[in-house]
Amino acid sequence: MKFTYFRNPKDYAGLLPGKHSCDLCGYNDKCFEGESFYGENIVDAICWKCLKNGRLEEANIFANDADVESLFDQMLQLNPDIPKDQLLAEAKAKINEIEFRTPPILSWQDWKFPAMDGDFCEFVSFTSKQELNELAPDGDGKQFLIEHLRVDEDNLINPEIVWYQLSDNKINNIEQTNHDCLCYLFQSRVSKKYLIIWDLI
Ligand SMILES: [Zn+2]
Repeated sequence: MKFTYFRNPKDYAGLLPGKHSCDLCGYNDKCFEGESFYGENIVDAICWKCLKNGRLEEANIFANDADVESLFDQMLQLNPDIPKDQLLAEAKAKINEIEFRTPPILSWQDWKFPAMDGDFCEFVSFTSKQELNELAPDGDGKQFLIEHLRVDEDNLINPEIVWYQLSDNKINNIEQTNHDCLCYLFQSRVSKKYLIIWDLI
């Protein structure tokens, strides 16, 4: 079960236990929880093969909301010599992958699947102090958080508060998440830079 923009679906995606009947193909297989998807049709379960094969598109069901605007701005900036039509086609393929072929990410607020360096990021994990300490070259996870936390102009976030609320220990699977506050670790597929997004109820 491999997805371009979601590193570890087995542990971090909302999978139903055991096998279920998929709303799209009818087969019994490993399925994602239907409530994570949105769009015209309400579904109970979507199997990983249907997601992988892009069958959501024909059913008008979405898995993730992609940050289309940032992606295209970055692509334009990075490729000033490539014709706009060509860039649009490339952007469309990437957006399609996020919206229809990537497992939905559990979240509370409506933030968009982030883009960096002209591509969408890969979702790595629900992160923790332990994980950020390990990622920081000098072991200072708090400083790493301050440097990589996404701060939107209209959404002022205090990294001190985020650090305080982060789980001490590694979150090895979706069951171990603290459901009031989630911190998402993403990585650029191009520069390998990290991006952290904070979300709470
Ligand atoms: Zn299916």
